[in-house]
Amino acid sequence: MLARIPSATVHGVDGRPVSVEVHVSSGLPGFTVVGLPDAAVRESRDRVRAALLSSHLPWPARRVTVNLAPSGIRKSGAGLDLAIAVGLLVAAEVLPAACVEGTGFVGELGLDGSVRPVPGIVSLVAAITEARVVVPGGAAAEARLVAGARARPAWTVAGLVAALRGRASWPDPPPAGRRIDVPSAPDLCDVRGQRVARRALEVAAAGGHHVLLVGPPGSGKTMLATRLAGILPPLSADEALEVLRIHSAAGVMVADAGLPQRPPFRAPHHGTTDVALVGGGSPWLRPGEVSLAHAGVLFLDELGEFAASVLDALRQPLEEHVIRVRRARAAADLPARVLLVGAMNPCPCGEGALPGMCRCTDVMRQRYVRRLSAPLLDRFDLAITLERPDVDDLLGGPPGEASAAVAARVAAIRDVARGRGVRNNAEIPLDAFEDLAPLAPDAAALLERRLRDGTLSARGLHRVRRVARTIADLDGDAGPLEDRHVAEALNLRAARTLLVPASR
Ligand SMILES: [Zn+2]
Repeated sequence: MLARIPSATVHGVDGRPVSVEVHVSSGLPGFTVVGLPDAAVRESRDRVRAALLSSHLPWPARRVTVNLAPSGIRKSGAGLDLAIAVGLLVAAEVLPAACVEGTGFVGELGLDGSVRPVPGIVSLVAAITEARVVVPGGAAAEARLVAGARARPAWTVAGLVAALRGRASWPDPPPAGRRIDVPSAPDLCDVRGQRVARRALEVAAAGGHHVLLVGPPGSGKTMLATRLAGILPPLSADEALEVLRIHSAAGVMVADAGLPQRPPFRAPHHGTTDVALVGGGSPWLRPGEVSLAHAGVLFLDELGEFAASVLDALRQPLEEHVIRVRRARAAADLPARVLLVGAMNPCPCGEGALPGMCRCTDVMRQRYVRRLSAPLLDRFDLAITLERPDVDDLLGGPPGEASAAVAARVAAIRDVARGRGVRNNAEIPLDAFEDLAPLAPDAAALLERRLRDGTLSARGLHRVRRVARTIADLDGDAGPLEDRHVAEALNLRAARTLLVPASR
């Protein structure tokens, strides 16, 4: 007999429907899986067999063929176990087909008959259109965030079979996902003094401009970077769902944490690999750190210590806001719209930003800055130099302005940008410059001087203009960009001169 059970597999963050067809026939006992299974799916035979026997359910001593349709796409992971087990019970006429009518199944089986969570549950249930979707009990809260009461929890195969037969009630779902905020981000009021750095952070958040912080150890680079997510606007409903899908697919979700509200903040270590950073490594093309930071902040501390290949892998997603992964029979577009914050010492000894303090030789300094490719440095709209905070500020100065006040201004500027038809000022297209960021004569003259003396490139020119738009917006100036806006934008990228030799 043939059973057909709806399930799904995940590629990147996208769920794809899979029909699990199980055929049981007479003939030599055997078990074959066809339809592009990966290693984990092929091993499902052993898990399903052990789980059924542990649950006192029969394993047919007959010929079993499992076909995973459509055959053209690769099926990954252990999430098809439950559908295979249910299909086997139906095909072997242990479970009446009517009991599973209109029901999809996702979940991994333990040898003891337990039903275990799998990565990507949010995308998996979304890909199944059936009236009911049975999900692992441990992932039910996550599933219910997108599927509501359609998601039915199962903790064990035995309990599931009893519920499907109507001999037991469905287990109570765990409390529905509440909207719990992540622990609140550290507050900007802890940052005393640092006027330029605070301004740079506000401009970065308001316009969506990538920012590079250059300064000696102890100058507060990390302290500032970790406060950037706290001044970004809360996630929109669409962004929250997208962040949920990504974190679920990467397997880093806290099951009952609810829909995320705050933009994520990710800070991968400089020893990270390019696959861990941009994703696509596992059989199901798992999202990497850039995608986990989607709609939030990606912080790369010790930027100069990252491998060159890792930093190179970052350039395409920064440009296109998406990572396109293509493998044989599997493809995924991983979301990657991040606000990038880099931090680095100005030189190997760390003191290079302070006149007369640096102990490095010219060769050491050159080798250090050469690790950063010019194309990557070009991605930073803002690059500022930090100094260690003033002792007076640390001991006696007033606390800095709180994140909430800054965040309100940031949100207002983002609204202004949306009113212009762009997501933020960093995404103003070139052909809209004359409309959205026109230059007053003085501002044009200032930029022309910088282009002529070679301290500004064509690409830099566009970035300065977008940043100047944000500065003018923050100052409440809706008209053409004035020279003071452009001068501040130039000033907020002045640290590039420490890092980019004049020849570049
Ligand atoms: Zn030095």
